[in-house]
This record gives sequence, C-alpha cells and structure tokens, in this order.
Amino acid sequence: MVWTIGDWCICVPESIELLSQSVQKFCGCGPHSYTAKHFLHAPGHRQSPINIRPDEVKLDPRLNIKRLTWNYPKETTELLNTGYCWKAHVPTEGATLSGGPLSHEYQLAQYHCHWGENDQIGSEHVVNGQAYGAEIHFVNWNTKYGSFNEALKYGDGLAVLGVFLKVGKENPELNKLCELTNEVKHKDECAAFRNTLDPNKLLPERGAYYTYLGSLTTPPCNECVIWIVFVEPVEVSHEQLESFREMMSMKKGGCSQPSREHKILNNFRPPLSVEERVVSLGYL
Ligand SMILES: [Zn+2]
Repeated sequence: MVWTIGDWCICVPESIELLSQSVQKFCGCGPHSYTAKHFLHAPGHRQSPINIRPDEVKLDPRLNIKRLTWNYPKETTELLNTGYCWKAHVPTEGATLSGGPLSHEYQLAQYHCHWGENDQIGSEHVVNGQAYGAEIHFVNWNTKYGSFNEALKYGDGLAVLGVFLKVGKENPELNKLCELTNEVKHKDECAAFRNTLDPNKLLPERGAYYTYLGSLTTPPCNECVIWIVFVEPVEVSHEQLESFREMMSMKKGGCSQPSREHKILNNFRPPLSVEERVVSLGYL
C-alpha cells in the first residue's frame, strides 16, 4: 500500500476505507492494527494518542506567557459521515487559535469525534489508563505553511484541541448535532445544521490542559501535531453517545443486510509509548 500526499487528511481518509477492506476485514480490529507494516509514520517516536500520567506532567510557566486563546465562529455549518466518524464543518475564515504552546497562529479546519461501543471506552487519550466515553478533536493548521496539506509535513503543522466526553447529564448544545446523526447514518451523507451549534460551547472556558508533541491518530499518522488535551471532561448523556453508535461505515444501499459490524464503533486508536516525551500542564 503506497501513501501519497494527496491521500493525507485527518479523519476523512479514503485511506480508512482501504484499511477497513484490507485489515479490518480479517482481524476486525481497526485502528488497533495501525503498525509500521501499514503506515509510513507509525513506527516513529512521537505517536499519538498516549496514556497521560498526571503525576508525571510538568507545570510549564512558559505556557502562560501568552494564554491559549481561540476565536472560533459561533456556528457549525454541516455534519458529515466520513465512514469512520462524524466530522463537523465550520466557517473557517478568521477561526483562529494561538498562545499557550503555540508560536504561530493556527486556523480551525474541522472538528470530529472518536467513541467506543460502550460508555467506558472511546477516547483516544487515556488518563492513568482510564478512558472516557468519547473525545472530540478540533483540528487547526499552522497558517505560516499556507495550507492544511502543506502543514502536515511539519512538526508544528497542526494543533489539535482534545475534549473528553464523560457520560453524565445531557449536553443541550451537542443535541443539535445528535439530532442530525440519523440523517448522516451512511458514509458520505451530509446534513446542514437546523439549530445553530456553537463549537465554543463544547470547549471549556477555564481550567487546565495537557500538551505534548504527537501525531495524527489516523493513517498515515504524520508526526505533525501539537496536542492540547483539556483535563476536565464535558458531560454528555448515554443516549447522546448511542446516537453516534447508530452511524454506519458503509454507503447507503452498500449492503443488503446491515448488521452490527457495519456500525461505527471503537473508532479510536489505543495509546502508544510516551518514550522520551514530556507532557506539560498549562492553564486557560
Ligand atoms: Zn481525531
């Protein structure tokens, strides 16, 4: 399998479909099987996600020189089923992220989610070995590189905000997305938001974040991401996560007898070795 720059994208990948066909088919293990055998960057030394150990993180005062700040649009335009996850599109003009561990200005490209087959698994990052039920990623690219695809080639090319979803009370803002998942049940289906979803309301207003140097968690796993993962999870209900689990990885009419194996479940990559990396702690 040969990967070219044209195939690179995050959580949209046609490559995931190829993966499903070539790997998942015989082992059923999806992202758990991303290894050097399949992907150029997977054997590297700054792979993501990781198991974060709070007692080993370093408080870094440099993160507070300029506070981490985002200026995101207050609306989300459409929701897409990529066949691997849901992906939300936003008006990206002027949607910026800067400060904290970032030396340049980044622009929001999209946000998407990873989840599990039950409420106890689903997040990509885990804390002391414990997973959350889901994890939303806000994907931003470094504007000094001129384009998203160009940014993928550099160690500081992307900055991804990670938000853990923990099962608890219903999240009213996320409901505006959950009510659309039935309309994007199949791969490549897309639906416009009827009720304005403000992505800012899915992000914490204050609190701490972990930050470290890592990679894309989907093929080809480029080591181009400055990760910023918020310590405090956002609460969502069990029913809201269930609506994600009803989404399918195949196109409409792609199978005469859709079954559980066609549902999008466990679309998270398991944690990889931290190696020599330091995880720092900053505050909003
Ligand atoms: Zn992701």
